Amino acid sequence: MAFIVGIDGPAGSGKGTVTKRVANKLVLINIDTGSTYRCVALEVLNRNINIDDIEKIIEVAKNIKIDIKPLPEGDKIFLNGKEVTKEIRSKEVTTIVSPISSIKEVRLAMVELQRKMAKGKNVIMEGRDICTYVFPNADVKIYLDASIEERAKRRFKENQEKGIEMSYEEVYESIRKRDENDKTKEIGALKPAEDSIIVDTTNLTIDEVVEKIIEIIKRKM
Ligand code: C5P
Repeated sequence: MAFIVGIDGPAGSGKGTVTKRVANKLVLINIDTGSTYRCVALEVLNRNINIDDIEKIIEVAKNIKIDIKPLPEGDKIFLNGKEVTKEIRSKEVTTIVSPISSIKEVRLAMVELQRKMAKGKNVIMEGRDICTYVFPNADVKIYLDASIEERAKRRFKENQEKGIEMSYEEVYESIRKRDENDKTKEIGALKPAEDSIIVDTTNLTIDEVVEKIIEIIKRKM
């Protein structure tokens, strides 16, 4: 029987890093659902589609081919057969991904894809609406949070390591805007499920968060 761990939370809450480590330790397949929305955003940019051209964006979402290859060193993401792991993290993609993911038809297409990716497998899936919408019956439901200052600090450092040039102020503003947009979506809004366990990571190290989550999962396994 498939076992599903859902991890929701805002940008910079530690989801990505923590989920990867927990997946490796517990031998779960890691699915980063944000990367599916990022692929749609990248394809919109590649095709020079205007961000207000909702019909064309929906067409992209319905016809896009996305593959996530989970590897111990991190997932590799393929968009229509081409590897885009790094490209989908660009500043340009990050700027338009939240409004694009607010389009109902885009969400329905991506949620269908995400459910297919998880089918019959033991997965740890991270996103914004995993425990509320994608898998409301997930075996384990966790919501990671942290103060916006701490999240901006983390993302700024991460960007520097990845060679993405953004000032701390730009990162802070980008996260603030995404939070606002992600929390007010018509469907799939960012919020903890009623039965999610909330873990505030503001004053915890990555190791401490990983340990805490493994403990929570093991109790349910
Ligand atoms: O997790 P990540 O920051 O890569 O996600 C990029 C964007 O994709 C988020 O800001 C959010 O707007 C959208 N997203 C979503 N639902 C998910 C995962 C991501 O709407 N399950």
